[in-house]
Amino acid sequence: MSARIPFFQHDLGAPELEALAAALRDAILTTGDTVAEFERRFAARLDVPHAVGVTSCTAALHLALLAVGVQPGDEVITTPMTFVATATAILQAGARPVFVDVEPDTGNLDATRVEAAIGPRTRAIVPVHLFGQMCDMRALRAIADRHDLAIVEDAAHCIEGRRDGAGVGALSEAACFSFYATKNMTSGEGGAIVTRDAARAAHLRLLRQQGLTTGAAERERHGYRHRDMVTMGWKYNMYNLQAALLLPQLGRLDANLARRRALAARYAARLADVPHVVVPPVAPGVEHAWHVFAVRTDGVARDALVGALQDAGVGVTVHYYPPVHLTGYFRDAFGHRPGSHPVAERIAATTLSLPFYPTMPASLVDEVAQRMARCIELAGRAERVVRSAARGDGT
Ligand SMILES: *Cc1c(COP(=O)(O)O)cnc(C)c1O
Repeated sequence: MSARIPFFQHDLGAPELEALAAALRDAILTTGDTVAEFERRFAARLDVPHAVGVTSCTAALHLALLAVGVQPGDEVITTPMTFVATATAILQAGARPVFVDVEPDTGNLDATRVEAAIGPRTRAIVPVHLFGQMCDMRALRAIADRHDLAIVEDAAHCIEGRRDGAGVGALSEAACFSFYATKNMTSGEGGAIVTRDAARAAHLRLLRQQGLTTGAAERERHGYRHRDMVTMGWKYNMYNLQAALLLPQLGRLDANLARRRALAARYAARLADVPHVVVPPVAPGVEHAWHVFAVRTDGVARDALVGALQDAGVGVTVHYYPPVHLTGYFRDAFGHRPGSHPVAERIAATTLSLPFYPTMPASLVDEVAQRMARCIELAGRAERVVRSAARGDGT
């Protein structure tokens, strides 16, 4: 069969090797100056005053929820159309995730349904900017203000996105990022929180490092001093080697976004004539961060198409199935059943994500579209055979 087209390829190379070598020559391997430099530059890139480096987006969400005051027994509103970590972070903070259905076009939390889910224990909203397309943050902010709720953005897909003139972190108490292996910027594993509030940033620094007032870098610089543990804390501190890998990538964010935007436009053009495949629209006012390129199937079985594409050497994946409320754990723990969030369930059953990364040659987009058209044609032919056999008029 034809050559395999990978789902994702990172673009780390010489600049990252050099930065890593420099970080290894430093006496401090853990959280130190390189992390501080990354935090400064990441905050500046997002135009938010403070950034705090942590070990993952899951950790970032956990700490951000604690820092906005979420307590055991509270409820936090979020979307079922996300990676499980959005919801498990809410559980880690001791709260209960309350799922609200999503918009049919974008798959993002439907702001028009949020108010109906707010109760006396609701403390926060965690919107997810699915695939890089920002939620309607102005609508969510208005709701949060009316009900005195905090917003913690799950921006794992969306460093670069904007909507209605506002970037990530501009309208929330905190925004959380992932530097996991396939994200738009990566250190293999890693994460960060941005916030506009200096006191909250200081609190987050305590929470990420055991609740201790100083770390190893301060002791190296100033010599041993007693320190105190002033609050319950976790072991979530980003370390210098992660920051070293991330720093050079900040300089490539815009160029890589431009490449992915061009690839997305090419996909949309090439797939326009492929039957049974729909490229979801981008909402007005959105500057898409293009993290994942997902399409929907219409009138053809998604799982059969995923199988056929894999057999045809196309690296595909599904974001996300099952939707979080219908995973085994959430069904068992909270009694969720199919039908409770029908829009998310329909999207989860019809979505698939295609190969997409900044160094992907445009010719491979054409190749994926061609293989997709062929798979759908074959699937249609197979279905006609099955149908005619069922009618008894086959050969
Ligand atoms: C990747 C991802 C996470 C988790 O990120 P980690 O850094 O792996 O903890 C959370 N939410 C969404 C939407 C993600 O895609």
